[in-house]
Amino acid sequence: MYASRPCAQVAIDTASREAQAHETMTAPVQKATPDAIAEAADILRRGGLVAVPTETVYGLAVDAANPDAVARLYEVKGRPRFNPLIAHVNGPEMAKREAVLEGAAAFAAGFYWPGPLTLVLPAAPSGRVCDLARAGLDTIALRHPSHSVAHDLVTVFGGPLVAPSANPSGRISPVTARDVAADLGDGIDLILDGGRCPVGIESTIVSFVGDPPELLRPGGLDPAALERFLSVSLARPGDETASPRAPGQLARHYAPNAQLRLNAVSAQADEVLLGFGPVAGASANLSPRGNLAEAAANLFAMLRWLDGRHERIAISPIPQEGLGEAINDRLRRAAAR
Ligand code: AMP
Ligand code: MG
Repeated sequence: MYASRPCAQVAIDTASREAQAHETMTAPVQKATPDAIAEAADILRRGGLVAVPTETVYGLAVDAANPDAVARLYEVKGRPRFNPLIAHVNGPEMAKREAVLEGAAAFAAGFYWPGPLTLVLPAAPSGRVCDLARAGLDTIALRHPSHSVAHDLVTVFGGPLVAPSANPSGRISPVTARDVAADLGDGIDLILDGGRCPVGIESTIVSFVGDPPELLRPGGLDPAALERFLSVSLARPGDETASPRAPGQLARHYAPNAQLRLNAVSAQADEVLLGFGPVAGASANLSPRGNLAEAAANLFAMLRWLDGRHERIAISPIPQEGLGEAINDRLRRAAAR
């Protein structure tokens, strides 16, 4: 059963951002002073995108509770898939509002946080992180970064920030503000310059959802050190002890119970219609005006809502362009089961 989570629907003034981006052509880079961090937090509150140094790599941060901002993040990164994102917190207290942090996971966080260790945990009903950021899953990935700029930005902002690496999908991760400006500059509102990232590779991701805990991605923290600390052997994907998953998939994916029929022009008698664009008779509409960022922001919340109430869902065609590629990828995999 899913806990449906209301997501803030803060409208982004895309038009004015685009105008600004065209004026300057590249995002402003500012030394990460307290004033710049305060300005960055304001930008995030308005649904904007801020590149921020962490000890691993530069992240592209948005408000984790704002699905419009998360959709824009996917658009700017050009990700063809909605992978769940890591939410950055400023310590165990904020983490506990978002997730069930107990037992071995709490022990690991107590010793290795702040630092390059991401914990995958059951999501808490009180959590603010929106469905799109979690790719519809009931679990959530959390990290408390040790870099003072990332830590301070979360603190001044006052809530969790999702921040995948600040590079276009498929390119290598940036470790300086200059790398970010060169690769992604004109899609971002502000780049905070905090020098070179000391670790330089991504965080180690460990899931504490099952037992034993499972290494999902090796990274900046040596998994052997964590194994010694916890006195366990971490399960590895593909092990007998690991949870089953489709080949090539790091995270398990949200799967609806309802049967989905894609590219439907209208609903049949036993179906409800999830619309896109100006269609008649839809029970819910991803974007009546046919906007793909809006559709992405609504996708998981609307699927969950309809899934809990109906057995067959017909879905309007979504154009295979921009964010439509990731939306269609998600829908195809949800329909195939
Ligand atoms: P990135 O932010 O691109 O460095 O990567 C985030 C990674 O965290 C991806 O590989 C995700 O698959 C993984 N991840 C995030 N949330 C979850 C989750 N709830 N369950 C499993 N893996 C997750
Ligand atoms: Mg990356």
